[in-house]
Amino acid sequence: MKMFEQEKIPLAVVGATGLVGQKAIAMIDHHPEFYVAEIAASDQRAGQTFEESVCWREPGDIPKSVCTLKLKPIKEVNNRYVISALPASVAQEVEPALASQGSFVFTNASAFRMHQDVPILIPEINIDHLSLLERQKTPGKIITNSNCMVAFIALALEPLMELGAIEHVSVVTMQAISGAGYPSIDSIDIMGNIIPHIAGEEEKIITETLKILGTQTQPASFGITVHVHRVPILHGHTVALHIHFASSVNMHDINDIYLSRNQSWPGLYRLYHEVARPQPARDIGPYDQSVHIGRIKQGARDNIIGLIAMGNNLARGAAGASVRNMEATLQYNSSRENRV
Ligand code: NAP
Repeated sequence: MKMFEQEKIPLAVVGATGLVGQKAIAMIDHHPEFYVAEIAASDQRAGQTFEESVCWREPGDIPKSVCTLKLKPIKEVNNRYVISALPASVAQEVEPALASQGSFVFTNASAFRMHQDVPILIPEINIDHLSLLERQKTPGKIITNSNCMVAFIALALEPLMELGAIEHVSVVTMQAISGAGYPSIDSIDIMGNIIPHIAGEEEKIITETLKILGTQTQPASFGITVHVHRVPILHGHTVALHIHFASSVNMHDINDIYLSRNQSWPGLYRLYHEVARPQPARDIGPYDQSVHIGRIKQGARDNIIGLIAMGNNLARGAAGASVRNMEATLQYNSSRENRV
């Protein structure tokens, strides 16, 4: 049922002028429950309208309802729901202040992901980690989404844990330049080139994946070896995974395992049987929330499975993840309120 704007829940987007902030604004534009009521970026933009300040990189026009909103300094933001798309160094100071004043902060920044009281939430995997919010003493809370590459790794791995215990995962990534924000990497450095390093990324892939796939208090314990690469494509992160199980696994079950998850989460997994897919340029859309999986194969031994996972780093790996987390938290809060 479509709600009138005044019946929807207002929210703020901080870091609104960056790539993730813009994607969040575009995705919220047609959201049935939320609307963007406040926007903020760095202080020097305060007072400018969004349309005069932003370098809009989303398809289509800036949503009309946001065009003429004025950017605020972050300290004036006062909505209960906040999507944060700030650099981690800024988030480190700003997000606890927002939580102290009562805001629920859905953040893309890495600053608090590894804090023991803060969930890295992927509702399709670890909705139970939301109970960590009860340990946060502030009236508002901080809920993080994962690093954009981790989203696809964790979502590709979790269903396969049904096959048996994982001992080790070998990870090789190919990550789009939009993953580095805007303006990010100089075109001279990336055009026709591959850069086999992204600062801090390999550590995040290991620690965040294990935290998401563990319990609220205990990370998963399998080994992960990672090599990351920045590649010259605009959007879409791809990862090659080689998963080593403790004992032999039946690879013929894998398609069904992924597809069965789509019953609870329609469209979550898109599986490809053509040998040359998935491909970022062909297979992802601007607001795409799917994990695209292909090239599933048996490894050199019958306890090893290889596959390719891919998805939209801005839509599923960042802004859309915050939106999903906001929806899940809203549901969690209202079921708690109904219980008391
Ligand atoms: P971005 O394009 O560089 O945007 C950064 C945003 O933060 C801009 O709105 C910028 O405002 C604002 N900002 C910078 N310094 C600030 C300050 N001192 N005070 C207030 N606002 C400030 O970066 P992004 O790619 O959108 O990433 C945002 C966050 O999400 C980062 O933590 C990033 O690691 C994370 N993330 C990104 C992706 C991705 O695929 N890009 C995926 C997952 C997570 P001005 O325009 O005024 O400078």
